[in-house]
Amino acid sequence: MQIHASIEELMGEFDFDPDALKTKYLAERDKRIRTDGIEQYVEVTAEYSRYIDDPYIEPGFEREPLFDEVEVVIIGGGFGGLLAGARLREAGFEDIRVIEKAGDFGGTWYWNRYPGAMCDVESYCYLPLLEELNYIPKHKYSFAPEILEHSKRIARRYNLYENACLQTGVVELRWDESSARWIIKTDRGDRMKAQYVAMANGPLSRPKLPGIPGINDCKGYTFHTSRWDYSYTGGDSSGGLTGLTGKRVGIIGTGATAVQCIPHLGEWAEQLYVFQRTPSSIDVRNNAETDPAWVESLESGWQQQRMDNFNILVNGGDQDEDLVGDGWTDIFRNLTRVAVTLAGRKLGRRLNSEERAQLLELSDYRKMNQIRNRAENIVEDPVLAEALKPWYRQFCKRPCFHDEYLPTYNRPNVTLVDTHGKGVERLTENAVVVDGTSYEIDCLVFATGFEVGTSYTRRAGYDIIGRGGKHLSDHWSEGLRTYHGLQSHGFPNCFFLGFTQTAITVNVPHALNEQAKHVAYILSESRARDKQTIEVTAEAEQDYVDEIRRLSRLGARFYAECTPGYYNSEGEPGNRSGFFSEMYGAGPIQFFKVLEQWRAEGSLEGLDLR
Ligand code: NDP
Repeated sequence: MQIHASIEELMGEFDFDPDALKTKYLAERDKRIRTDGIEQYVEVTAEYSRYIDDPYIEPGFEREPLFDEVEVVIIGGGFGGLLAGARLREAGFEDIRVIEKAGDFGGTWYWNRYPGAMCDVESYCYLPLLEELNYIPKHKYSFAPEILEHSKRIARRYNLYENACLQTGVVELRWDESSARWIIKTDRGDRMKAQYVAMANGPLSRPKLPGIPGINDCKGYTFHTSRWDYSYTGGDSSGGLTGLTGKRVGIIGTGATAVQCIPHLGEWAEQLYVFQRTPSSIDVRNNAETDPAWVESLESGWQQQRMDNFNILVNGGDQDEDLVGDGWTDIFRNLTRVAVTLAGRKLGRRLNSEERAQLLELSDYRKMNQIRNRAENIVEDPVLAEALKPWYRQFCKRPCFHDEYLPTYNRPNVTLVDTHGKGVERLTENAVVVDGTSYEIDCLVFATGFEVGTSYTRRAGYDIIGRGGKHLSDHWSEGLRTYHGLQSHGFPNCFFLGFTQTAITVNVPHALNEQAKHVAYILSESRARDKQTIEVTAEAEQDYVDEIRRLSRLGARFYAECTPGYYNSEGEPGNRSGFFSEMYGAGPIQFFKVLEQWRAEGSLEGLDLR
C-alpha cells in the first residue's frame, strides 16, 4: 500500500505493515467461509424445540381463550413493545393489549439471564424512559436483572400488565376486510380482534444451534445461553454457580454473550473447555457505580440530550462534548466519518476518497493492534494469547468490552480449544470432538447466538395475511418492502417496529423510541381525522424501497472482506434478509430527521386513510 503523505502527516509513523495485515485478514476470512452459510445452523423446532422452552416460569399456567376485541394489539413485550405501549398511552390510547410469549415483560432481558449478563451500552442512554420513571441505574453499564426489573417498571407505570396476554404465542394474523380488523390467533386458542397491530418481535429473538453431527446424541446436560438453566448450574445471574462444582463444562461460541458468561463458568466449573471458532475483539470495560453527585447535577431533558449526543457520535457526527466517553464513542470517532471530518479540519481541506479509505483502514489496523496487544498483555501463555487475537476489522463483528474475560484464560482449569475457524467437528454421547480429539464434558452450553438472515415470518414464527389474502412472506419474498420501515402495502393498520428498513444504531432502544413515537403520531392523527384504516400506498412503498436499495450498497464491500458472522450473513453480504442488508443506509441521524420532518409536514404523505 502506497501511503499518502497527507495520511502520514495525520497519523504519524506506522509500526505495522498494512499489506501484511490485509493479507492475514483475508486469509483468516477465507479459512472460515463455508458453502452452507446460514444453512449451517439448525432451526430450533421439532426435536430441538426444548431449547426454547421457558425455564423461568412455573409450569401449569392456564387460562380461558379470548374472543374479544381491543383497539391496539402489541406483539412482543420487550423494549419495542414497551415503548410502543408507553407512547400510545401518552397519546391517549386506553384499549391496548400486549401479547408476549414469555412469562413477563423484558424481551431480550427476560430471556438472557446467563451469569454475567449485562448491557455494554451505557445504561443512562440504554434504559428507556429514565426521566419519565424517575429512575437512575446503579451502574454505568447495567447488569441484566436491573434491566429486566426496569422493563417491568415501565409495564407497571404505563399500565401494560392490564389486559396483557403473557405466555401466549401468536400463530396467525389475518386481516378481515368486512370488519376492517385484524384477527389474531394464538397458541392458547384465542381468536381476538384488533383495529391496529404493532409488531415488536425483536431482531435477535430466536436462538440458533449449530448443525453439528451428533447434536442429539449428547447425553451431557445441554442448553442455550438464552435459556440458562440455574436449576442445574446453581447460582444466578450474578454468579455462584455451585451446581458446577466438580463438573466438566463446555461452551461453544465466543461472541458477546459467551464473553460475559465465561468468567463465571471458569470460576465454578472444575474444568471449562471454551470451543472457539473466531475470537471476539475485547476492549476495556471500566464499569463504575453511578456517582450521586453526577445525578444531582442532572437537569430536565438530560436523557434525550445524552442519547442524542451518543447517537450523533456513533454515527459519524461531531459534538463539542462526548458525554458518554466510552469504548463505543472512541471507536466510532476514530474509525468512521468523524475521523475523516476531523482529519479534513487538520489538513485544511477535504480528503479525497482514496485518502478517506486509507485513513479509515489504517486507523482500524492501529485500533485492532491495540486490541491484540491487550490480549498479549493480559494472557500469560503466549500461544494462548495468540489464539485469542481477532484478525478482522473492528466492525466486522460486534465489538466486545470486558475486563474479566481475558484473565479467565490464566486459570489452570480453563482450556481454550481453538478450532482454527473450523468449529466443533461433532458431538458424541459424552464429548465434544475437535480435529479428532475428544473433550469429555458433563454439561455443554450453546452460546451460538440467534437466527439472523432467514425470513421475517420464519423468525416471527407465523405469517401475516393481509388484504386479499396476501401473505407477508410472499410480499417480502424478494426482500423487505416497507414505508419508513414501519408499514407495508396490503397490510393496513399493521406496524413493524424494529429492524425492517429502519436505521439501526448502537443504542437500539433509541431507535425503537423514535419508531414508537412515529406510530403513536400516525394512530393519533388517524383518530383525530376519524378514520378507520391507514395503509401505505403502493407508490410510496416502492419509492421508499428504491431509496433503501440505493443507500444500502454503501457497506457491501466492507462486509465482503469481513470474516463470516451474523453481520454479513455468514459471508454472504448480499443476503436480502441479512442483519444490515435492508437498513436505511444514510444512518439514524438522517432517518430520525426524515420521520420528524414527515410528522411536522402533517399531510401523512404516502398513506391512504379511510
Ligand atoms: P453471536 O452470534 O455473536 O456468537 C455466536 C458464537 O457461536 C460465535 O462465536 C460463533 O463463532 C460461535 N459458533 C457458531 N457455530 C459454531 C460452531 N459450529 N463451532 C464453534 N463455534 C460456533 O451470538 P451472541 O449470543 O454472542 O451475541 C449475539 C448478539 O447479542 C451480539 O452480537 C449483540 O448484538 C447482542 N448482545 C449484546 C450484549 C450487550 O451487552 N448489549 C451482550 C450479549 C449479546 P463465529 O464467530 O466463528 O461465527
